[in-house]
Amino acid sequence: MQVIDIINEAIASKRTRFAFELLPPLKGDGTQGVFKAIDPLIQFDPAYINVTFHREDVKYVEHPSGLLEKRIVRRRPGTIGVSAAIMKKYGVEVVPHLICGGHSRYDIEDYLIDLDFLGINNVLAMRGDNAKGDHTFRPNSDGHSYAQQLVEQIVDMNHGQFIDGEVDICHHSQFCVGVAGYPEKHADSPNYETDMRYLKAKVDAGAEYIITQMCFDNKKLFDFIERCRVAGINVPIVPGIKPFSTKAQLTMLPHIFHVDLPQDLVVAVESCKDNKAVREVGAEWAIEQIKELKAAGLPIVHLYTMGKTDNIEKIAKAVFL
Ligand code: FAD
Repeated sequence: MQVIDIINEAIASKRTRFAFELLPPLKGDGTQGVFKAIDPLIQFDPAYINVTFHREDVKYVEHPSGLLEKRIVRRRPGTIGVSAAIMKKYGVEVVPHLICGGHSRYDIEDYLIDLDFLGINNVLAMRGDNAKGDHTFRPNSDGHSYAQQLVEQIVDMNHGQFIDGEVDICHHSQFCVGVAGYPEKHADSPNYETDMRYLKAKVDAGAEYIITQMCFDNKKLFDFIERCRVAGINVPIVPGIKPFSTKAQLTMLPHIFHVDLPQDLVVAVESCKDNKAVREVGAEWAIEQIKELKAAGLPIVHLYTMGKTDNIEKIAKAVFL
Protein backbone atom coordinates (compact mmCIF):
# COMPACT_ATOMS: atom_id res chain seq x y z
CA MET A 1 0.00 0.00 0.00
CA GLN A 2 1.24 3.49 -0.73
CA VAL A 3 1.86 5.89 2.15
CA ILE A 4 -0.39 8.47 0.54
CA ASP A 5 -3.30 5.97 0.72
CA ILE A 6 -2.51 5.28 4.40
CA ILE A 7 -2.53 9.04 5.06
CA ASN A 8 -5.79 9.53 3.17
CA GLU A 9 -7.40 6.65 5.10
CA ALA A 10 -6.32 8.26 8.38
CA ILE A 11 -7.80 11.57 7.22
CA ALA A 12 -11.08 9.89 6.23
CA SER A 13 -11.37 7.97 9.51
CA LYS A 14 -10.33 11.03 11.57
CA ARG A 15 -7.84 8.82 13.38
CA THR A 16 -4.32 10.11 13.94
CA ARG A 17 -1.74 7.32 13.58
CA PHE A 18 2.00 7.24 14.12
CA ALA A 19 4.96 6.15 12.05
CA PHE A 20 8.48 5.81 13.36
CA GLU A 21 11.97 5.91 12.00
CA LEU A 22 14.70 3.33 12.61
CA LEU A 23 18.34 3.08 11.66
CA PRO A 24 19.74 0.06 9.82
CA PRO A 25 22.06 -2.03 12.05
CA LEU A 26 25.73 -1.20 12.31
CA LYS A 27 27.83 -3.24 9.88
CA GLY A 28 28.35 -6.70 11.37
CA ASP A 29 25.15 -6.65 13.43
CA GLY A 30 22.15 -8.76 12.50
CA THR A 31 18.53 -7.68 12.41
CA GLN A 32 17.81 -8.63 16.06
CA GLY A 33 18.30 -5.10 17.42
CA VAL A 34 15.92 -3.67 14.84
CA PHE A 35 13.28 -6.32 15.54
CA LYS A 36 13.69 -5.77 19.29
CA ALA A 37 12.95 -2.09 18.75
CA ILE A 38 9.86 -2.86 16.66
CA ASP A 39 8.36 -5.74 18.72
CA PRO A 40 6.84 -3.63 21.54
CA LEU A 41 5.38 -1.10 19.09
CA ILE A 42 3.51 -3.43 16.75
CA GLN A 43 0.54 -3.70 19.16
CA PHE A 44 -0.06 0.05 18.61
CA ASP A 45 -0.59 -0.47 14.88
CA PRO A 46 2.05 1.85 13.38
CA ALA A 47 1.02 3.28 10.03
CA TYR A 48 4.42 2.44 8.50
CA ILE A 49 8.09 2.30 9.46
CA ASN A 50 10.82 4.52 7.96
CA VAL A 51 14.37 3.25 7.60
CA THR A 52 17.13 5.84 7.36
CA PHE A 53 19.95 5.81 4.78
CA HIS A 54 23.54 6.48 5.83
CA ARG A 55 26.16 7.66 3.42
CA GLU A 56 29.81 6.75 3.65
CA ASP A 57 31.87 8.06 6.52
CA VAL A 58 35.54 8.94 6.81
CA LYS A 59 37.85 7.22 9.28
CA TYR A 60 41.50 8.06 9.93
CA VAL A 61 43.82 5.20 10.83
CA GLU A 62 47.18 6.10 12.40
CA HIS A 63 50.13 3.97 11.25
CA PRO A 64 53.18 3.28 13.50
CA SER A 65 55.13 5.75 11.33
CA GLY A 66 52.73 8.46 12.44
CA LEU A 67 51.15 8.69 9.00
CA LEU A 68 47.37 9.04 8.94
CA GLU A 69 45.50 6.93 6.40
CA LYS A 70 42.10 8.17 5.29
CA ARG A 71 39.60 5.35 4.88
CA ILE A 72 36.06 5.53 3.53
CA VAL A 73 33.73 3.33 5.59
CA ARG A 74 30.03 2.54 5.48
CA ARG A 75 28.92 2.04 9.08
CA ARG A 76 25.24 1.40 8.45
CA PRO A 77 24.66 -0.13 5.04
CA GLY A 78 21.64 -2.31 4.30
CA THR A 79 18.70 0.13 4.27
CA ILE A 80 16.93 -1.78 1.51
CA GLY A 81 17.61 -5.25 2.92
CA VAL A 82 16.49 -4.39 6.44
CA SER A 83 13.38 -2.62 5.08
CA ALA A 84 12.43 -5.81 3.23
CA ALA A 85 13.13 -7.91 6.34
CA ILE A 86 10.82 -5.68 8.43
CA MET A 87 8.06 -5.86 5.85
CA LYS A 88 8.36 -9.65 5.63
CA LYS A 89 8.36 -10.18 9.40
CA TYR A 90 5.62 -7.74 10.43
CA GLY A 91 3.59 -7.22 7.25
CA VAL A 92 3.82 -3.48 7.86
CA GLU A 93 4.59 -0.97 5.11
CA VAL A 94 8.15 0.34 5.09
CA VAL A 95 9.60 3.58 3.78
CA PRO A 96 13.31 3.29 3.00
CA HIS A 97 15.07 6.64 2.71
CA LEU A 98 17.09 7.36 -0.43
CA ILE A 99 19.69 10.11 -0.65
CA CYS A 100 21.56 11.81 -3.48
CA GLY A 101 24.81 12.08 -1.48
CA GLY A 102 27.46 9.56 -2.52
CA HIS A 103 25.33 8.14 -5.32
CA SER A 104 25.24 8.32 -9.07
CA ARG A 105 21.92 8.32 -10.87
CA TYR A 106 22.71 4.75 -11.91
CA ASP A 107 23.16 3.68 -8.26
CA ILE A 108 19.77 5.23 -7.50
CA GLU A 109 18.17 3.46 -10.42
CA ASP A 110 19.55 0.13 -9.20
CA TYR A 111 18.18 0.77 -5.68
CA LEU A 112 14.78 1.59 -7.13
CA ILE A 113 14.75 -1.54 -9.27
CA ASP A 114 15.58 -3.66 -6.20
CA LEU A 115 12.84 -1.95 -4.16
CA ASP A 116 10.34 -2.54 -6.93
CA PHE A 117 11.26 -6.25 -7.09
CA LEU A 118 10.83 -6.47 -3.31
CA GLY A 119 7.33 -4.99 -3.47
CA ILE A 120 8.37 -1.83 -1.61
CA ASN A 121 6.46 1.06 -3.17
CA ASN A 122 7.38 3.89 -0.82
CA VAL A 123 10.52 6.01 -0.54
CA LEU A 124 11.52 9.20 1.22
CA ALA A 125 13.71 11.14 -1.23
CA MET A 126 16.37 13.45 0.16
CA ARG A 127 19.58 15.16 -0.77
CA GLY A 128 21.49 13.94 2.29
CA ASP A 129 24.00 15.96 4.27
CA ASN A 130 27.51 17.02 3.35
CA ALA A 131 30.16 14.31 3.42
CA LYS A 132 32.08 14.40 6.69
CA GLY A 133 34.61 17.22 6.64
CA ASP A 134 32.98 19.03 3.68
CA HIS A 135 31.51 22.47 4.24
CA THR A 136 29.13 22.25 1.32
CA PHE A 137 27.22 19.44 -0.32
CA ARG A 138 29.13 17.95 -3.23
CA PRO A 139 27.12 15.69 -5.52
CA ASN A 140 28.56 12.53 -7.01
CA SER A 141 30.04 13.25 -10.46
CA ASP A 142 26.99 11.63 -12.06
CA GLY A 143 24.58 12.28 -9.21
CA HIS A 144 21.92 14.74 -8.16
CA SER A 145 22.55 18.05 -6.41
CA TYR A 146 19.08 18.40 -4.91
CA ALA A 147 16.27 16.17 -3.72
CA GLN A 148 14.02 17.64 -6.41
CA GLN A 149 16.11 15.87 -9.08
CA LEU A 150 15.85 12.59 -7.17
CA VAL A 151 12.07 12.97 -7.04
CA GLU A 152 12.08 13.60 -10.79
CA GLN A 153 14.11 10.44 -11.41
CA ILE A 154 11.70 8.32 -9.35
CA VAL A 155 8.65 9.80 -11.04
CA ASP A 156 10.28 9.26 -14.45
CA MET A 157 10.81 5.62 -13.58
CA ASN A 158 7.16 5.32 -12.59
CA HIS A 159 6.44 6.57 -16.12
CA GLY A 160 8.76 4.01 -17.68
CA GLN A 161 11.66 6.44 -18.28
CA PHE A 162 15.01 5.02 -17.24
CA ILE A 163 18.33 6.89 -17.33
CA ASP A 164 19.28 5.43 -20.68
CA GLY A 165 15.82 5.99 -22.16
CA GLU A 166 12.60 4.01 -22.40
CA VAL A 167 12.48 0.24 -22.36
CA ASP A 168 10.33 -1.75 -24.78
CA ILE A 169 8.43 -3.61 -22.12
CA CYS A 170 7.78 -1.91 -18.81
CA HIS A 171 5.50 -2.87 -15.95
CA HIS A 172 5.83 0.64 -14.42
CA SER A 173 6.96 0.98 -10.82
CA GLN A 174 4.52 2.67 -8.46
CA PHE A 175 6.64 4.56 -5.99
CA CYS A 176 4.94 6.98 -3.66
CA VAL A 177 7.53 9.63 -2.85
CA GLY A 178 7.78 11.71 0.32
CA VAL A 179 10.20 14.57 0.91
CA ALA A 180 11.64 16.49 3.87
CA GLY A 181 10.46 19.93 4.99
CA TYR A 182 11.93 22.32 7.54
CA PRO A 183 9.65 24.34 9.85
CA GLU A 184 12.75 26.20 11.10
CA LYS A 185 14.32 26.46 7.61
CA HIS A 186 17.02 24.26 6.13
CA ALA A 187 20.47 25.34 7.29
CA ASP A 188 21.72 26.06 3.74
CA SER A 189 18.77 28.27 2.78
CA PRO A 190 19.26 32.03 2.66
CA ASN A 191 15.73 32.61 4.03
CA TYR A 192 12.31 31.03 4.66
CA GLU A 193 10.86 32.17 1.32
CA THR A 194 13.62 30.52 -0.72
CA ASP A 195 13.37 27.33 1.30
CA MET A 196 9.61 27.27 0.69
CA ARG A 197 10.08 27.83 -3.05
CA TYR A 198 12.33 24.78 -3.28
CA LEU A 199 10.00 22.71 -1.12
CA LYS A 200 7.21 23.55 -3.56
CA ALA A 201 9.48 22.51 -6.45
CA LYS A 202 9.84 19.06 -4.85
CA VAL A 203 6.08 18.74 -4.54
CA ASP A 204 5.54 20.00 -8.09
CA ALA A 205 8.05 17.37 -9.23
CA GLY A 206 5.78 14.65 -7.78
CA ALA A 207 6.30 14.32 -4.02
CA GLU A 208 3.00 13.30 -2.46
CA TYR A 209 3.63 14.23 1.17
CA ILE A 210 6.14 16.04 3.39
CA ILE A 211 7.73 14.88 6.65
CA THR A 212 9.12 17.67 8.77
CA GLN A 213 12.43 17.98 10.48
CA MET A 214 12.09 17.41 14.24
CA CYS A 215 10.36 20.35 15.88
CA PHE A 216 9.77 20.86 19.60
CA ASP A 217 7.33 23.73 19.30
CA ASN A 218 3.87 23.12 17.81
CA LYS A 219 3.39 26.81 17.12
CA LYS A 220 6.28 26.57 14.63
CA LEU A 221 4.76 23.43 13.09
CA PHE A 222 1.34 25.03 12.63
CA ASP A 223 2.96 28.16 11.24
CA PHE A 224 4.96 26.04 8.76
CA ILE A 225 1.81 24.23 7.59
CA GLU A 226 0.09 27.59 7.13
CA ARG A 227 3.05 28.98 5.13
CA CYS A 228 3.02 25.84 2.95
CA ARG A 229 -0.68 26.31 2.18
CA VAL A 230 -0.17 29.98 1.37
CA ALA A 231 2.67 28.96 -0.98
CA GLY A 232 0.30 26.57 -2.77
CA ILE A 233 1.67 23.35 -1.26
CA ASN A 234 -1.41 21.25 -0.62
CA VAL A 235 -0.03 17.76 0.05
CA PRO A 236 -0.31 16.21 3.56
CA ILE A 237 2.34 17.31 6.05
CA VAL A 238 3.54 14.81 8.63
CA PRO A 239 5.07 16.51 11.68
CA GLY A 240 8.34 15.04 12.97
CA ILE A 241 8.52 14.65 16.74
CA LYS A 242 11.69 13.70 18.57
CA PRO A 243 11.33 12.58 22.17
CA PHE A 244 14.24 14.22 23.98
CA SER A 245 16.39 11.55 25.61
CA THR A 246 19.79 12.76 26.85
CA LYS A 247 21.24 15.93 28.36
CA ALA A 248 23.85 16.00 25.61
CA GLN A 249 21.04 16.62 23.12
CA LEU A 250 20.65 20.14 24.54
CA THR A 251 23.62 21.15 22.42
CA MET A 252 23.75 18.24 19.96
CA LEU A 253 20.27 18.63 18.41
CA PRO A 254 20.53 22.39 17.72
CA HIS A 255 24.04 21.85 16.31
CA ILE A 256 23.21 18.96 13.98
CA PHE A 257 19.59 19.64 13.05
CA HIS A 258 19.46 23.45 13.31
CA VAL A 259 16.41 23.48 15.56
CA ASP A 260 15.56 25.69 18.51
CA LEU A 261 14.62 24.23 21.88
CA PRO A 262 11.81 25.93 23.84
CA GLN A 263 13.00 27.44 27.11
CA ASP A 264 10.56 25.37 29.25
CA LEU A 265 11.97 22.17 27.78
CA VAL A 266 15.57 23.31 28.32
CA VAL A 267 14.85 24.18 31.97
CA ALA A 268 13.09 20.86 32.56
CA VAL A 269 15.96 18.87 31.01
CA GLU A 270 18.63 20.85 32.88
CA SER A 271 16.93 20.06 36.19
CA CYS A 272 17.03 16.26 35.56
CA LYS A 273 19.49 14.34 37.71
CA ASP A 274 20.24 11.71 35.04
CA ASN A 275 19.33 10.65 31.49
CA LYS A 276 16.61 8.31 32.79
CA ALA A 277 14.83 11.40 34.08
CA VAL A 278 15.53 13.20 30.78
CA ARG A 279 13.79 10.38 28.88
CA GLU A 280 10.73 10.86 31.12
CA VAL A 281 10.70 14.60 30.50
CA GLY A 282 11.20 14.04 26.76
CA ALA A 283 8.36 11.52 26.53
CA GLU A 284 5.99 13.83 28.44
CA TRP A 285 6.89 16.77 26.19
CA ALA A 286 6.27 14.63 23.07
CA ILE A 287 2.93 13.39 24.49
CA GLU A 288 1.73 16.96 25.02
CA GLN A 289 2.83 17.94 21.51
CA ILE A 290 1.08 14.93 19.97
CA LYS A 291 -2.17 15.55 21.87
CA GLU A 292 -2.32 19.00 20.32
CA LEU A 293 -1.43 17.72 16.84
CA LYS A 294 -4.17 15.07 17.14
CA ALA A 295 -6.67 17.71 18.24
CA ALA A 296 -5.75 19.70 15.14
CA GLY A 297 -6.61 16.65 13.00
CA LEU A 298 -3.17 15.82 11.62
CA PRO A 299 -3.37 12.28 10.19
CA ILE A 300 0.14 10.95 10.96
CA VAL A 301 2.85 11.84 13.46
CA HIS A 302 6.41 10.77 12.58
CA LEU A 303 8.50 9.77 15.61
CA TYR A 304 12.28 9.97 15.48
CA THR A 305 13.72 7.09 17.54
CA MET A 306 17.46 7.00 16.81
CA GLY A 307 17.08 3.25 17.20
CA LYS A 308 15.72 3.07 20.79
CA THR A 309 11.99 2.69 21.32
CA ASP A 310 11.23 2.26 25.07
CA ASN A 311 10.15 5.91 25.22
CA ILE A 312 8.13 5.51 22.01
CA GLU A 313 6.22 2.66 23.69
CA LYS A 314 5.30 4.97 26.55
CA ILE A 315 4.18 7.66 24.12
CA ALA A 316 2.17 5.21 22.02
CA LYS A 317 0.41 3.90 25.17
CA ALA A 318 -0.54 7.46 26.12
CA VAL A 319 -1.73 8.75 22.75
CA PHE A 320 -2.12 5.98 20.16
CA LEU A 321 -3.90 3.16 22.02
P1 FAD B 1 16.92 19.56 -0.65
O1 FAD B 1 15.45 19.61 -0.75
O2 FAD B 1 17.68 19.23 -1.88
O3 FAD B 1 17.38 20.99 -0.09
C1 FAD B 1 18.73 21.18 0.33
C2 FAD B 1 19.02 22.68 0.31
O4 FAD B 1 19.09 23.14 -1.03
C3 FAD B 1 17.95 23.52 0.97
O5 FAD B 1 18.58 24.62 1.57
C4 FAD B 1 17.06 23.95 -0.18
O6 FAD B 1 16.35 25.14 0.10
C5 FAD B 1 18.06 24.10 -1.30
N1 FAD B 1 17.53 23.74 -2.62
C6 FAD B 1 16.66 22.74 -2.90
N2 FAD B 1 16.44 22.68 -4.23
C7 FAD B 1 17.21 23.63 -4.79
C8 FAD B 1 17.46 24.05 -6.14
N3 FAD B 1 16.83 23.47 -7.17
N4 FAD B 1 18.35 25.07 -6.35
C9 FAD B 1 18.99 25.67 -5.32
N5 FAD B 1 18.78 25.32 -4.01
C10 FAD B 1 17.93 24.31 -3.77
N6 FAD B 1 19.74 12.39 5.77
C11 FAD B 1 20.36 11.23 5.48
O7 FAD B 1 21.53 11.25 5.08
N7 FAD B 1 19.72 10.03 5.62
C12 FAD B 1 18.42 9.94 6.05
O8 FAD B 1 17.88 8.85 6.16
C13 FAD B 1 17.75 11.16 6.37
N8 FAD B 1 16.46 11.14 6.79
C14 FAD B 1 15.81 12.32 7.01
C15 FAD B 1 14.44 12.30 7.35
C16 FAD B 1 13.73 13.48 7.56
C17 FAD B 1 12.26 13.42 7.90
C18 FAD B 1 14.41 14.74 7.44
C19 FAD B 1 13.68 16.04 7.66
C20 FAD B 1 15.75 14.77 7.10
C21 FAD B 1 16.47 13.57 6.88
N9 FAD B 1 17.82 13.57 6.49
C22 FAD B 1 18.45 12.39 6.21
C23 FAD B 1 18.57 14.83 6.42
C24 FAD B 1 18.58 15.47 5.02
O9 FAD B 1 19.22 14.65 4.09
C25 FAD B 1 19.30 16.80 5.17
O10 FAD B 1 18.54 17.69 5.94
C26 FAD B 1 19.82 17.46 3.89
O11 FAD B 1 20.73 18.48 4.27
C27 FAD B 1 18.76 18.11 3.03
O12 FAD B 1 17.98 17.18 2.42
P2 FAD B 1 16.70 17.65 1.54
O13 FAD B 1 16.19 16.47 0.85
O14 FAD B 1 15.77 18.43 2.38
O15 FAD B 1 17.43 18.61 0.50
